[in-house]
Amino acid sequence: MSKRAIKIAAIPGDGIGPEVIDAGMEVLMAIAGRDGGFDIKSERFDWSSQRYLDKGDFMPEDGLATLRGFDAILFGSAGDPRVPDHITLWGLRLKICQTLDQYANVRPSRLLPGIEGPLKGVTSKELDWVIVRENSEGEYAGVGGRVHQGLPEEVGMDVAVFTRSGVERIQRFAFELARSRPRKLLTLVTKSNAQRHGMVFWDAVFEQIKGDYPDVTTDKMLVDAMTTRMVLKPESIDTVVATNLHADVLSDLAAALSGSLGIAPTGNLRPERDAPSMFEPIHGSAFDIMGKGIANPLGTFWSGAMLLEHEGEAAAAARLMRAIERVTGEGKYLPRDLGGKASTREVTDAVLEAIQQDNA
Ligand code: NAD
Ligand code: MN
Repeated sequence: MSKRAIKIAAIPGDGIGPEVIDAGMEVLMAIAGRDGGFDIKSERFDWSSQRYLDKGDFMPEDGLATLRGFDAILFGSAGDPRVPDHITLWGLRLKICQTLDQYANVRPSRLLPGIEGPLKGVTSKELDWVIVRENSEGEYAGVGGRVHQGLPEEVGMDVAVFTRSGVERIQRFAFELARSRPRKLLTLVTKSNAQRHGMVFWDAVFEQIKGDYPDVTTDKMLVDAMTTRMVLKPESIDTVVATNLHADVLSDLAAALSGSLGIAPTGNLRPERDAPSMFEPIHGSAFDIMGKGIANPLGTFWSGAMLLEHEGEAAAAARLMRAIERVTGEGKYLPRDLGGKASTREVTDAVLEAIQQDNA
């Protein structure tokens, strides 16, 4: 019988994207080789700001149709100083997320062994969260406009769009995820005191569906108060669900509190699995360190573990996480943003070695 092959589209993008994605694919191939239960077939796409500058588009016209032929996407980062950020974001990353309707953005934050975050005395026992971000509408729906451009009466508007189906599907996804975690605790974050339409609607939908998950404990926070709770009472948080904008901000804070932007992973999930999901490190293209060979690849490796998990390869995902944690725990090959001196190559080699030595 032939082995199952996971088909991965690798899109390195801009800046340090190619450095971390090449390292990430190397590690994923090694995991597949080590586990033996599945193969990985990957194809690399040069869809980037450079391509936009050369050819006028970030991806070919049939790019999204091409992606549909893959099981999953591993994405690096998008953003180049020569192109305005909103052009890049909408031309590449959001185009993929929105067209493939990857509506659940999942962002785990955990202090890995050996990594000291900025919060004193806080370990992975206190800081182990998953933030679920609504990824298809809300404040980033793209609805709005500019009127009277350049004139004194110019107006700029972004309208947040919340639909019942959009709110309900992300909240149900978060309930299911909370249910799968040991603490079974879900915090709803909104701003329903000030935003009295869409956010009150979020609260109402939550009230309507929570009875379907009697085993999940729930609470609610306003987004501003949530930032304080994350810093002062991290142990009181487990799974969090919030809108596109609110969760975007909260998850960058979560990444910083768990050590470094360079380590944080994310998955843009299409839970129905009728289109590929996309996995990526949270960090951007870091042009200040591009080409120096010092980018932290751990956020990409962790994203790779999420990819394997989503593809049903839980044992391989766990093996990859153990290898990452062994490297951070030993502390010998830490990248610069985590206080070490190791290059991308050295961190990658250390993880590859830990994968080979893992005998669980
Ligand atoms: P950034 O994440 O690129 O960099 C912030 C700081 O963190 C920099 O000092 C950088 O050197 C450091 N850093 C980031 N990732 C690192 C890594 N893996 N290893 C070591 N150090 C790392 O954020 P920015 O400077 O705000 O944005 C730069 C560009 O990236 C912009 O064009 C922005 O729009 C884009 N961006 C893209 C994404 C994405 O593709 N998902 C996310 C954030 C920013
Ligand atoms: Mn962000």
